[in-house]
Amino acid sequence: MLGIDPRSFVVITAAFGILCSFVLFALHSGFPRDIKGLARWGRGCAFMATAAALLSMRGAIPSVFSNFLSDLLIISGVGAIYGSLQEFTGVAPNTRRVTALFFIAALGLAWVTFAHDDYRVRVLIMSGVLTILFSACAWVIIKSRDKGFPDLFTQYLFIGTAGITFARFITAIFEERAVTFDKDFSLIRHVYLGTFAFSTVGLTLGFILMVNRALHSKLEYLASRDHMTGAYRRDAFMQRLDDEIAAAERQCKPLALLMMDLDNFKSINDRYGHTVGDHVIRDFADKLTHELRHNDCVGRYGGEEFIVLLPHTGEVDAKAIAERIRDAAAQHTHGDIPAYTVSIGLALLSPPTSGAQALIDAADKAMYMAKQAGKNKVEIASVEMQELL
Ligand code: GH3
Ligand code: MG
Ligand code: MG
Repeated sequence: MLGIDPRSFVVITAAFGILCSFVLFALHSGFPRDIKGLARWGRGCAFMATAAALLSMRGAIPSVFSNFLSDLLIISGVGAIYGSLQEFTGVAPNTRRVTALFFIAALGLAWVTFAHDDYRVRVLIMSGVLTILFSACAWVIIKSRDKGFPDLFTQYLFIGTAGITFARFITAIFEERAVTFDKDFSLIRHVYLGTFAFSTVGLTLGFILMVNRALHSKLEYLASRDHMTGAYRRDAFMQRLDDEIAAAERQCKPLALLMMDLDNFKSINDRYGHTVGDHVIRDFADKLTHELRHNDCVGRYGGEEFIVLLPHTGEVDAKAIAERIRDAAAQHTHGDIPAYTVSIGLALLSPPTSGAQALIDAADKAMYMAKQAGKNKVEIASVEMQELL
């Protein structure tokens, strides 16, 4: 038993809910539109705050507002939070199931409010529905990919909150029938109400950290990528190349570099115009992404020049990949895009290395050889060529 007035928790929940809602709407107005879920979560907090405010006025206003409406608002609030998480993780919000749950709960709550006042049944309905919703929220994050600390923090907070609402459900089954709202001094009731107040803030903070992490990744992506093709910009590529060379030397692993230049591109521009030329560059970048593995790295080195870093790749595999790229470029797959080819130079990291620039120069030389040999070819930089650099 605790000597804390349950209404204190309810008032705290209302105040926290208003603050959280305000912060989320403020963030929503400044965030990129493709980071979704902020407004919906803000609405969820506003529902919870209104519900808590109504509940705190219990006795002073009709029970249709203080009990019935406030319970429905709590369900809508957690439902909105669930939808917000789905939106954020790129899953289409499952409104039909939440609406069905809402109406089933509304029927039960209408019965205990208007027909047969039963505190225990009301607690059973609410804790049951909330256990389902909080578990569903946790499940959305569990299933999402690429999780960081904020996601795990929020996920475990949802699991904890679902656990406490479930405990409330179980204890309500065995509760004495005489217990009512004003006479329930049980510990679980206080923990349940306290959890509600603090999980509103805790979960909202967790979600803010999640969207912040998403924003950070997005900005990092935009800063390091070429706008037109999505390939790494030259400076970001060089940074990655330095890191990969250091890692390859440390682990004694092979590493290959491909330098590529589209053939006769000036005449494509002259014949079809710059816009079609741009489409060809994009088409080639798409083909590269398609042909490469996840941890290979594509950079746009110049206008129609691309550079590819192949970690953990020796000569035989690198040559096969380069031939695959050359072949894919030459396949005329798109009706709106003229046929084109690419010349590729391949250089391999051979210890003791002379660094990133020497490797690039060797690949560039090999690419020049491919041009000299008639274009649409792959050439490998010889060991002597790399040593001469
Ligand atoms: P080669 O086979 O020897 O490579 O001949 P080339 O005509 O492709 O010669 P080069 O590689 O020197 O030509 C590059 C041309 O690419 C020159 C430039 O006008 C064009 N270019 C560079 N950046 C862009 C771009 O972003 N869009 C378009 N459409 N053209 C570009
Ligand atoms: Mg060029
Ligand atoms: Mg060219």
